[in-house]
Amino acid sequence: MPLDKLRELQSQRLREAVERAYKSGGFFYRRMRDHGVSPSDITSVDDLSALPTFRKEDLRANEAEYPPIGDYRSVGLERSVRLATSTGTTGRPTITIWTANDLDIDYEIAARRYWREGVRPGHVIANAHPGYLNGGQAIVSGAAEKMGCLPISLGPPEDDAAVEKALRTIESIPIDHWHTMPAGAARIREVAERIGWTGKLPEVAAMTPMRQYSAISAGLECIGTLGGSCSPQDYRGAHIAEDYAIVEAVDDVTGLPVPDGQRGRFLCTSLGRENPMLRFDLNEVIRLDRSPCPCGETHVRGFWEGRMQDVITVEGTWILPIDVWFELEDGQEFVLVRTGDAQDALEVRVENASEDLAERLRARTGVQVTVTSVEVGSLPRAAYKSMRVVDERP
Ligand SMILES: [Zn+2]
Repeated sequence: MPLDKLRELQSQRLREAVERAYKSGGFFYRRMRDHGVSPSDITSVDDLSALPTFRKEDLRANEAEYPPIGDYRSVGLERSVRLATSTGTTGRPTITIWTANDLDIDYEIAARRYWREGVRPGHVIANAHPGYLNGGQAIVSGAAEKMGCLPISLGPPEDDAAVEKALRTIESIPIDHWHTMPAGAARIREVAERIGWTGKLPEVAAMTPMRQYSAISAGLECIGTLGGSCSPQDYRGAHIAEDYAIVEAVDDVTGLPVPDGQRGRFLCTSLGRENPMLRFDLNEVIRLDRSPCPCGETHVRGFWEGRMQDVITVEGTWILPIDVWFELEDGQEFVLVRTGDAQDALEVRVENASEDLAERLRARTGVQVTVTSVEVGSLPRAAYKSMRVVDERP
């Protein structure tokens, strides 16, 4: 969509979202009232900064205050068609509900990502994504169905017996794609080898900087799949579905937008939904690129840089694990060490660090760097969301 048309659409959908959230009389109404903002103040995308931001802990507090699901939604359980919880990797999970309209939007955006990754109508998808209260599996299947694919929901690969049963069931069906988490993929491959299964297997894709930049999420409670990359190997970032979201990168202190190409706090406003989220502060770091993309898509590209809690400020510069990661070999473990609230050098520990690593990191980040090489196997192994920063403040 041409950019002027896109801005028009965003402004119209933003007005609708603000109106809807305000009228519901709950969480968003109170926050707008307390900030002295009313829907008539928001006429276009340019007025967005007048709205207050909120964080996940505000949603948690709201759910506790107004059980069972809080009052931050315009539409409640009675008009919902699905319920799931967030992963809860950063605290107690929050509840997510979808209306039929909102679910269809999530399918649409996820389908765009799958399409960029090569999924086409008619493909068969083995879906072993975490399920049950985790909403991921159902979204994968719904998006695949919307595309005209055949998703087979195998259930999460919880134990070897479950995996064996699933593999036997699909033995003679040609699989085009797998959807599963890395740990699940590893288990499926192990079992397949043991039982002599010969079908297409999921790749155990290690997390790399390339993968970190290839997709972006604003959390299941806002927009689970916000965007995907048109060409991950070129580090182009993830095209954000701007017809369904406005993404901002703002200064941590002033709250004002940072220039394109610079890191800022990641804010997301959902558009077109019956349960809108207005300026959700994900407590994460994003960089935006609005320059024309070689692929022809007009939507902005976002680079997910990491979590705010992992930011180490060295002489005023935000350093994140991905800055170090870029200079390492695949699978080489590392941690950044937080030595104070403001540091004058970046301190990193790397397993089997190469001689020139400190110099390369200095060149990449522009700050002083101290590298300590440690024995292979001595650093903690990465879990689902790995801990790359250790706190050693006095
Ligand atoms: Zn592109």
